[in-house]
Amino acid sequence: MGTGSNTASTKVDRLNVAKGVAVSNLAAANAAAASFAGLIAKLDYLSPSDLEQVRQAYRFADEAHLGQLRNSGEPYITHPIAVTAQCAEWKLDAQALMAALLHDALEDCGVTKAELIERFGSPVAEMVDGLTKLEKLHFSTREENQAESFRKMLLAMARDVRVILIKLADRTHNMRTLSDAPRDKWARISSETLDIYAPISHRLGLNQTYQELQDLAFRHLFPWRHATLAKAVAKARGRRRDLFQKVQREVEASFKEPGMAVRVTGREKTLYSIYKKMDEKHLSFAQITDIYGFRVLVPNLSDCYTALGVLHQLYKPVPGKFKDYIAIAKPNGYQSLHTTLVGPSGVNVEFQIRTEAMNIVADSGVAAHWLYKTSESDSATTDRLGAKWLQSLLDIQLETRDATEFWDHVKVDLFPDAVYVFTPKSRIMALPRGATVVDFAYAIHSNVGDHAVAAKINGDQAPLRTQLKSGDVVEVSTSSDATPNPAWLSFVRTARARSKIRHHLKTMAQNESELLGQKLLAQALRAEGIEKLPEEDVASQGLWDKLLRFTGNKSRSELLTDIGLGKRIATIVAKRLLKLLMESGQKPNALLLTLERFAPHESQTQGAVTIDGSENASVQFSTCCRPLPGDRILGYLGRGEGLALHTDDCSVAKKLQHRDSDRFISVEWSDEPARAFEAGILVTVTNGKGVLARVASALASAEADIAHIDMGEESAQDTTDLRFVIAVRDAAHLEIVLRNLKRAPSVLHASRIKGHS
Ligand code: MN
Repeated sequence: MGTGSNTASTKVDRLNVAKGVAVSNLAAANAAAASFAGLIAKLDYLSPSDLEQVRQAYRFADEAHLGQLRNSGEPYITHPIAVTAQCAEWKLDAQALMAALLHDALEDCGVTKAELIERFGSPVAEMVDGLTKLEKLHFSTREENQAESFRKMLLAMARDVRVILIKLADRTHNMRTLSDAPRDKWARISSETLDIYAPISHRLGLNQTYQELQDLAFRHLFPWRHATLAKAVAKARGRRRDLFQKVQREVEASFKEPGMAVRVTGREKTLYSIYKKMDEKHLSFAQITDIYGFRVLVPNLSDCYTALGVLHQLYKPVPGKFKDYIAIAKPNGYQSLHTTLVGPSGVNVEFQIRTEAMNIVADSGVAAHWLYKTSESDSATTDRLGAKWLQSLLDIQLETRDATEFWDHVKVDLFPDAVYVFTPKSRIMALPRGATVVDFAYAIHSNVGDHAVAAKINGDQAPLRTQLKSGDVVEVSTSSDATPNPAWLSFVRTARARSKIRHHLKTMAQNESELLGQKLLAQALRAEGIEKLPEEDVASQGLWDKLLRFTGNKSRSELLTDIGLGKRIATIVAKRLLKLLMESGQKPNALLLTLERFAPHESQTQGAVTIDGSENASVQFSTCCRPLPGDRILGYLGRGEGLALHTDDCSVAKKLQHRDSDRFISVEWSDEPARAFEAGILVTVTNGKGVLARVASALASAEADIAHIDMGEESAQDTTDLRFVIAVRDAAHLEIVLRNLKRAPSVLHASRIKGHS
């Protein structure tokens, strides 16, 4: 047990280490741990070369912290030494001990990570870097699921269990010395310890650390309650001293006859667990009956059950109080038999029965179990160490029965499938691994996702597609006129983001279809001599209601959307509308009617639907002819598919026109197209090395992007037909591209593909 720096302040050996264990002992333990010589004495399990490396790390840290002081006035280096001493109690390997010595050097002392890599190698530097990052995280909210997320985030960020162990040692020493810190910091640090670090140490089975952290936090969070309770426990301990000495003698004597070598120690419930029980069950101190107990350590597993029999013969067991944690271990690996017996004078006494090996796990957890087997680990990578640790967990499980539950706990904790990130207001969000800024934005609110335009991660600009890492602070900026980009669907990870984006795109297409429908109906109405559509106002309400009754639509916008999608023919609706308008006294404009009838071209231009390429889902550029700005185009309003564009010489369009001429509407190009458009081209080349590269470079020099290449079957032995889909600005641009291609070496022929699929 060394100098006992890890002796929990509330653990009482043989009940005769009395009273104020805490303060003076701790101070002494700290002083002892602070001396590097004291630390070296604990490192007898290291090889000489490992020991030398630890020495070097110490010298480096000592120099780096030179002149810095702790709150207590002691040299700062006493802190890293104490942390390392705790790690040595757990028998951590040399790399971890070096990282423990260096754990505060990166942040405060102007030391760089590169320097650490060079001097101590990358595994040590990575651990120190990980610890530095954890140091910056603070947990403040009291919400339960936030605490759980925060714990998982810590575990996810650490990636290496050694980092977590060093962090726990760091927190333990800081808690032991918290009284030196300014009083206004006690509450925050203590709450954080109770919410985050104590549960992690419990989960890892570091029972001593768990209890010590809880009691130190309790002491600093509620000094008065702690002191009162400590006094009450001390008093009760004094009153019952004789009784418990008697129990101890009787128990020890009862094992003489079976000849079993047992070690019997008295134990006392921790102040914090007494406090919690009183608090949760609304009990007074006098009502807590199980403050004292005994631990019986036996040579091997089967002795546990023999010992149980011996004890049950000595005192009467209390029914319902027996628990077999050997057959079914606790999730953190804890194993023991628990039983409560009626002792002398009718006082209930709890007994824990276990082997020495189980006792080590009970005190120092599964980590200790791993650490006792690290002899061949010097060259092991972080990953392998992690894997080995998990393997040792499995080994423990093979000895017991409840493998899956324990395994699940550990897996979830140490290799979470989630990343944990912060909002700018320090709220923690859990997202699946691989989640991007867009997923984060939608997780916050669908409005944030729908209007996201840019993001900052940890203060730096980052693209919306950036994958997030645990601990990132993510800030999304929005703009009210921004809309989701269909390309987002290719990288979002969460179902929520995916469905929200899809929903929005669908709504957008709907709105566009409605607008198109409005244009088409207005155009058809002009052909009937009515200048514009009746407004959607009170005056026209009756008119629209009648029209909707005729078409069977629920609303004006539904009717217009139907027209835009081609589910309804605009001219028929327009004729009905004209009839309704005339019934209400309106007359067609004769001049307009004449113009529409006898000057078709001009009127078409006035009523045509303008295309600029910004229409998304509501307009399709047919792949048979791939119309370009500059081409004469036709619009075909399919049944429910929206508007399809064709060139006027497209053979597919010609067939449709023959069959379905009343579904064609006039369309025209906007003067300023909003984007590039795709065109199909056929390039015939002579076969030879590097031909494709030459064609590609000719395309690039004409500023045409290749969207798709199709290497056709070789039409003749020495030539090949290449089919490209390229993006160009308009038909004139395509002409330039084709001219460029024809001048390129090896190109025999280049032309646009149009009108046949
Ligand atoms: Mn520290």
